[in-house]
Amino acid sequence: MKRDFQDQFPLLYESGRLLFDQPLAQRSSFKIGGPADVLALPNTQKELIALLTYALQKQIPYFILGKGTNLLISDKGIRGLVIGMEGFQKITRDENYVSAFAGVKLRHLCEFAQQEGLAGLEFAHGIPGSVGGAVFMNAGAYGGEIKDRLYCSKCLIPELEHLTGSDPILHLTAEQHDFSYRMSALQTRGLIHLSSVFRLFEDEPSAIKARMKEIEQKRWEKQPMDLPSGGSVFKRPQGHFTGKLVEDCGLKGHRIGGAAISDKHCGFIVNLGQASAQDVLELIKFIQKTVYERYQVTLETEIRLIGER
Ligand SMILES: Cc1cc2nc3c(=O)[nH]c(=O)nc-3n(C[C@H](O)[C@H](O)[C@H](O)COP(=O)(O)OP(=O)(O)OC[C@H]3O[C@@H](n4cnc5c(N)ncnc54)[C@H](O)[C@@H]3O)c2cc1C
Repeated sequence: MKRDFQDQFPLLYESGRLLFDQPLAQRSSFKIGGPADVLALPNTQKELIALLTYALQKQIPYFILGKGTNLLISDKGIRGLVIGMEGFQKITRDENYVSAFAGVKLRHLCEFAQQEGLAGLEFAHGIPGSVGGAVFMNAGAYGGEIKDRLYCSKCLIPELEHLTGSDPILHLTAEQHDFSYRMSALQTRGLIHLSSVFRLFEDEPSAIKARMKEIEQKRWEKQPMDLPSGGSVFKRPQGHFTGKLVEDCGLKGHRIGGAAISDKHCGFIVNLGQASAQDVLELIKFIQKTVYERYQVTLETEIRLIGER
């Protein structure tokens, strides 16, 4: 399979954007994860379409990787093709609208808007990851969600009839994203995010900056930002706060192998240095079981568990 990819995509290979048996731990905020059989880093829509078309024609599984901040990648890694979106980098402004490509860091989008005197994305400052990942997940914090500011998106339909036909692109209005808590139509329909436009409003850059700073400060006070993690492990169960449930079960600091429930925020699992994906998985199951037995509350994971088990 690797040789075939090399032959099929010589330009990608020669420019170091087609890699084989590539460890993914450094591409995940958990700093955990085995290798990808093939890691491709396209820079253009054309390259992305060619890669997807080839994978679908050859029935090779593929996975779209943003900044890896909401993933637990298995120790065995990911079979088939992993497509990293970091090559898609562009931010532009048109009046009160800002457009950003999928690979742009959410932090850069927020900083760009602030410098332009455009407010509305302060809540997102400090959420790690890419614009593509944020739209896919409908990321949110401190009372705001991506859905509140998103105007429209451009996506790719990863189906052979579309990729090889004349209509591989799908334009989604805000409503067509079907956003809900950490959920979007990109997840349910398996769409690939290319870019989004956000509708913002004018304000003083210094006032926007002050709000961003305040939010970032809160994050550093409450979350274990200094240790590798995947953010909140679980979605917020209705009527409860995960961190409190876990803490009330006496699990603060509980450790399996190199993975531990954070002392600072019990909704986070942190990698103390040498954690394996298996350690994290066992800790997740242990938390789910303990919380269910004590409170009959089911904790559903927010982080996405991917790769070969
Ligand atoms: C310390 C820490 C704090 C966090 N705090 C928050 C928070 O406050 N609020 C919050 O909502 N999240 C938070 N997160 C989780 C995470 O940052 C977000 O979910 C983020 O939006 C994920 O973006 P990503 O680029 O890293 O996506 P990845 O982790 O790379 O991928 C996540 C999912 O999105 C898909 N995806 C990524 N890019 C694309 C694309 N272009 N097209 C289609 N699918 C794509 C992937 O296939 C995967 O299924 C936190 C994480 C950490 C580590």
